[in-house]
Amino acid sequence: MMFMAQDYDDVVTLGIGEPDMDTPKHVIRAAMNDALAGWTHYAHSQGDPELRQALSDSLLAAGRDVSPDRIQITHGAMGALVAVMRSLLCDGGEVLTPEPHFPDYAAHVGFAGGKLATVQARFEDGFIVRPDELEAAVNENTRMLLLNSPGNPTGAVLPGEVLDAIAEIAVRRDLFVVSDEVYDAMSFDGPAPSIFDRPGMSERCLVVNSFSKTYAMTGWRVGYCYGPEWLMRELIKVVSYSTASASTPGQRAGLAALRGPKEPFQAMVDEFTRRSQYVYSRLAEMPGLRVNRPQGSFYMFADVSGSGMDGLAFAETLLKEEQVVVIPGETFGPSCQPFIRIACTVPMDRLEIAMDRMERFMKRHGETA
Ligand code: PMP
Repeated sequence: MMFMAQDYDDVVTLGIGEPDMDTPKHVIRAAMNDALAGWTHYAHSQGDPELRQALSDSLLAAGRDVSPDRIQITHGAMGALVAVMRSLLCDGGEVLTPEPHFPDYAAHVGFAGGKLATVQARFEDGFIVRPDELEAAVNENTRMLLLNSPGNPTGAVLPGEVLDAIAEIAVRRDLFVVSDEVYDAMSFDGPAPSIFDRPGMSERCLVVNSFSKTYAMTGWRVGYCYGPEWLMRELIKVVSYSTASASTPGQRAGLAALRGPKEPFQAMVDEFTRRSQYVYSRLAEMPGLRVNRPQGSFYMFADVSGSGMDGLAFAETLLKEEQVVVIPGETFGPSCQPFIRIACTVPMDRLEIAMDRMERFMKRHGETA
């Protein structure tokens, strides 16, 4: 879509999956000062001890007791996903994840020699997977459940009772759980519950997180994960032999983000909340379009079948006729053809223009289909 968009002027891009805000200046300054003071060498493969301590402190403040030796710093959340897949799937096995899902999961699992299997999460259920259907998809090859809440691309947050049920299944069927929580700071109805806090999870759950979205730090490439001690001993081997360590200045930036003022990050969350509410209220009024109220992240996943087009044709036609970029749903799994993903990652004035254009488009296509 981005490639096609180059042929048009004044395009509003609702395709990009990262905060449009720059990293706050105090973080950049702290990282630059540390780099000038000599923080330019390899870091410890498990990660800067000060950063791991700061993460442990901030997890404790949020009610999770995770010692620094159970935290692994990685090259973004992607580094953590790759490390856990390569650690646990080296002799094959299946990973089960709800669809729609972050598309990169298939490659993370595939690179490691495993296979990604999916179970449908339905629009009618707010894209919350049904635990009984998840369990029905478990077979003798299933090793792992892979969850993502708040979710990309749906903006859904898995409720506590669903996580209780999934944790119980994981224990009973002896499955490992990876919980991708990179959007946890962007949860609109209070803190997003985590499967990590459920009984039995301390020995079989890895939480993957990142500085990318929470702190507008995508380009610094710093993520982290925490879980049982036995797994940490394996993850460090993958990190050590693939990237040696996450970037040293990037980790110092992460430390500054954790230890410094929180207001700039809260302002970002407030802004994404405001944008998401605005876009949801506009989309909900458009003829031929169905959308769930987003509960977190900065995405919305809208059913466009009322336009008479699938998500791909819709995205191409919308770009051609109204110069707005959205992502075709099939990117997030073959069952997602009727959908498009909208990312609220442009400022409010551009979002307003995009919504006016989409409304005009839906008045043309949504009422006639
Ligand atoms: N998980 C999900 C669900 C994501 O959306 C993304 C980024 N788009 C990542 C992981 C990777 O994040 P990072 O920049 O920390 O590698």
